[in-house]
Amino acid sequence: MSATPTDILREREDNAAILAAARDGLVYLPLGGAGEIGMNFYLYGCAGKWIAVECGITFADETMPGLDVIMADPRFIVDNAKDLLAIVLTHAHEDHLGAVPHLWRKLRAPLYATPFAAGLLRAKLAEAGLKDEAELTEVPLNGHLDLGPFAIDFVTVTHSIPEPNALAIRTRFGMVVHTGDWKIDPEPLIGKTIDKARLSAIGDAGVLAMVCDSTNVFVQGEAGSEAEIRENLVEVVSRYKERVAIACFASNVARVESAVHAAMANGRRAALVGRSLWRMTEIAQACGYLQNIPPFLTEHDVGYLPRNEVLLICTGSQGEQGAALSRIAANEHPHVVLDRGDVVLFSSRKIPGNEKSVYKVRNQLARRGGQILTDKDARIHVSGHPARDELARMYHWVRPHIAVPMHGESRHLIEHAEFARAAGVAEVLTVTNGDCLQIAPGAARVVGRAPSGRLGVDGSRLIALDDRLLSARKRMTFNGAALVTVVLDKKGRLLADPQVSTQGLLDEQADETAKTAAAVAAQLAVEKLSRDDREDDGLVEDAVRLAVQRSLKAARGKRPLTQVHVVRV
Ligand SMILES: [Zn+2]
Ligand SMILES: [Zn+2]
Repeated sequence: MSATPTDILREREDNAAILAAARDGLVYLPLGGAGEIGMNFYLYGCAGKWIAVECGITFADETMPGLDVIMADPRFIVDNAKDLLAIVLTHAHEDHLGAVPHLWRKLRAPLYATPFAAGLLRAKLAEAGLKDEAELTEVPLNGHLDLGPFAIDFVTVTHSIPEPNALAIRTRFGMVVHTGDWKIDPEPLIGKTIDKARLSAIGDAGVLAMVCDSTNVFVQGEAGSEAEIRENLVEVVSRYKERVAIACFASNVARVESAVHAAMANGRRAALVGRSLWRMTEIAQACGYLQNIPPFLTEHDVGYLPRNEVLLICTGSQGEQGAALSRIAANEHPHVVLDRGDVVLFSSRKIPGNEKSVYKVRNQLARRGGQILTDKDARIHVSGHPARDELARMYHWVRPHIAVPMHGESRHLIEHAEFARAAGVAEVLTVTNGDCLQIAPGAARVVGRAPSGRLGVDGSRLIALDDRLLSARKRMTFNGAALVTVVLDKKGRLLADPQVSTQGLLDEQADETAKTAAAVAAQLAVEKLSRDDREDDGLVEDAVRLAVQRSLKAARGKRPLTQVHVVRV
């Protein structure tokens, strides 16, 4: 769909309103992550300057054929890139920094992250050929950053990865606490516990707005601790004499360390299977984590050890194609084989949208005689996001005047808004991607909508997800394609029978009748046109396309992507 003049006018007015609000006050403008879980991308504007918080991705599903990585369309801030002071990353999860290699050339702003995220980012920038171009500054834990009108304190919290940060963003209009992803883990195993005293002190100083994680707002109680999972893994592994594999997220370094503890406590040695595990553990060790454990075995070493002396730590808990666990389950791994009776522990949850691929892997493992344990069978996973009791404590510490839920689908944001109201927050606003919220001065309100959308990595380039190219591809995927060739003379007389060929729609041999009917429909469509119209290629194409689609729809119930070639001789 192309923009109408009214759309263009409205976009221009909205744009002017947003820029004015960001010049004269403080605004929050999410481009990704508000209305979905994934592809986080939040903007803050003040005194005419902007900072981006996060630059993340999400994964494509079957409605996006040919694409695998999706991210927020940053068009609004690309148009204002000269005023973009920085891209600040709160932690190293892909939904927070995975889009940096794809979008940095459009944004060209300095990057800021704490050491672990910076380590991962450096590797990603190098892969993308941006090592020398992109300026990346490491911020120490609990460090401070002055960026024009923004004075930012990093506040270490707890989550499911090393070094998660909340940001206390001070401006002359007041302070915003952007929580990032967090939970309250009393024993995170890696890194310190959440700093209640510091968060309370920030609350004492007066917080204008808190923009807060909504992922687990429907979950009662507390998320639970990594320490509890460590104990449980040690116990669960002790039950078996067979080979044991633990599937978990490579970025959950505490969990990886727990798997190593479970191995050591049970006379086993831990092997890493999967590239991202090697990368993450190397970065973690460079940052001073994972120090007091023996070196990991490689996948080559595994075959030489008796079954009960090895513990495999695998990537692929989401059933990702090509990841270690998928290859092992399909018996296609070059070095690692699971035998009948071997055990796979899923120390992870299914990310919504991954159910099919997770079940596929579990079914394959089950067919091969594997024993499978998930967090339903034993408590071997905890979430990294705050459940309701933790949210209540955060609101109690920070005491914001305004609450703005983020990092959630609409239902999470709305429930979180209810929660914040019940917690006594004076102003609560639910905004989704593209809404520009004026936080100050005056009562918080949405002042305009910025263009928002999604970009997908298509081969070697980025395309907009409403792109005509993608809708054509989708149509082709779901409905097949037809190609019609019509040969006319200069006056528009048909010189031969129209030729119809199809892809993914008809069985070329068996469906001769449907094809002939389509060709006849094309012929009639041309003949029905007036002599003048027949001299116009565009009109001939349109008439033939419609007629052929109608004919194929009648024959097969599908309207394929149809291309018409008009040949004049
Ligand atoms: Zn996260
Ligand atoms: Zn996240």
